[in-house]
Amino acid sequence: MKRVYPLIVEKMINRVFKFGGASVKDAEGVRNVLRVLKHQGTKDVCVVVSAMGKTTNAMETVVSSYYLAKKNQPEAVLEVVKEALRPIQHYHEGIIQDLFGAQSAFVKAKVDLLFEEMHGFLTWNKSLNHSFIYDQIVGYGELLSTTIVSAYLEAQGTANRFLDIRQFIKTDGVYRDASVQWEQTVERIQKLNNQGELLVTQGFLGSDANNFTTTLGREGSDYTAAILAYALDAKSVSIWKDVAGVLNADPRAFEGPVQLHQVSYTEAIELAFYGASVIHPKTLQPLQRKGIPLYVRSFIDLENPGTCVTAGSPLVPEVPCYIVKKNQVLLELATQDFSFMAEHHLSSVFELFAKYRLKVDLIQNSAISFRVCLDNRFDQFEALVAALEKDYLIKYRKGVSLYTIRHFDEKAYEALPKEAEIVLEQRTDQTLQLVASFKG
Ligand code: ASP
Ligand code: MG
Repeated sequence: MKRVYPLIVEKMINRVFKFGGASVKDAEGVRNVLRVLKHQGTKDVCVVVSAMGKTTNAMETVVSSYYLAKKNQPEAVLEVVKEALRPIQHYHEGIIQDLFGAQSAFVKAKVDLLFEEMHGFLTWNKSLNHSFIYDQIVGYGELLSTTIVSAYLEAQGTANRFLDIRQFIKTDGVYRDASVQWEQTVERIQKLNNQGELLVTQGFLGSDANNFTTTLGREGSDYTAAILAYALDAKSVSIWKDVAGVLNADPRAFEGPVQLHQVSYTEAIELAFYGASVIHPKTLQPLQRKGIPLYVRSFIDLENPGTCVTAGSPLVPEVPCYIVKKNQVLLELATQDFSFMAEHHLSSVFELFAKYRLKVDLIQNSAISFRVCLDNRFDQFEALVAALEKDYLIKYRKGVSLYTIRHFDEKAYEALPKEAEIVLEQRTDQTLQLVASFKG
């Protein structure tokens, strides 16, 4: 008798690829996406795309001019919006023309529709909630790019399925910094029921309970790739970049950086914590939880395997990693009567750091003074000083640089510019941190 075996349902998508804005900044970039896909194979791939080039920044400008006009000259709002959107429309139309030539009418119609939707929203919108408006408009950057990329692949004979990611990634309603509602999101993504075709979708976007668009925070597309990979139990995520992979130092600040072949999740999180623009911890967490490796690869040099972030050895090769954070503030506090800096002082000081959203990079405490290096991210340092002045004697130095060297060796100091004067130093077994000030 013939036995009937249960159908084994394989997870269809096993690779998630993310292409950032720089990789699709012009027609050549879009053509290159196809080249990468052909090289890698399109089977069971989900492609996540960011907005083209600097579109997100341009969209931010649209939102601010709309917002200002709505408050100050409501009669001119529509004119202002039209003006602001025009260069964005031209930019995308230029790319479409280059990619599709005489066959561009079909894609152009789709893109026109997206611009009409934007105009529509800005016409009927009554809300003055800046973050809400921001998410409704800025997200069109990704909808435009994916519409163009998907149509281009299709036109070149690479069939694909366009997904509106907002139907899958559900978030809370915290516009501009939405948090993923994991349960709903995973359930929706798993129901995707993909039959092995290539998927093309937007990074950065989600939607709230009312189906309004939300965004996951700037540079959020990497995170989108991780969310999809997590929900799909994908085998890997690849982020395609204009660099060969993750380097042990920022080439703009240090000489002779080397490419890292492997970095552990925890090491990558550490590096990001100290200010390296490696990969956002938010992106790594879902991947780490399921042990899904993340590749950072060059979209130009396809033979270079890039950097793999995965479990295992912290760093291959084992080299020191150099991170610099410029424009930090070194703050020194003492009590008015030079009594000890006790716990209750410190706790109130830290409350103020949190209140004014200054990120603490480094702390050094002695009996009567307390020194801390701060990242003045939101320009609230003056407000902090005003709040502290009542209770403390204050000294500070602005414009210092914080050098962090993970896995430092005896040559660590040589990486600093000659004119740097080290004003504070701290080391643990793994990490050397130097606060440097520059004369003149
Ligand atoms: N387009 C968004 C941004 O520029 C998201 C991303 O690129 O990751 O922030
Ligand atoms: Mg971007």
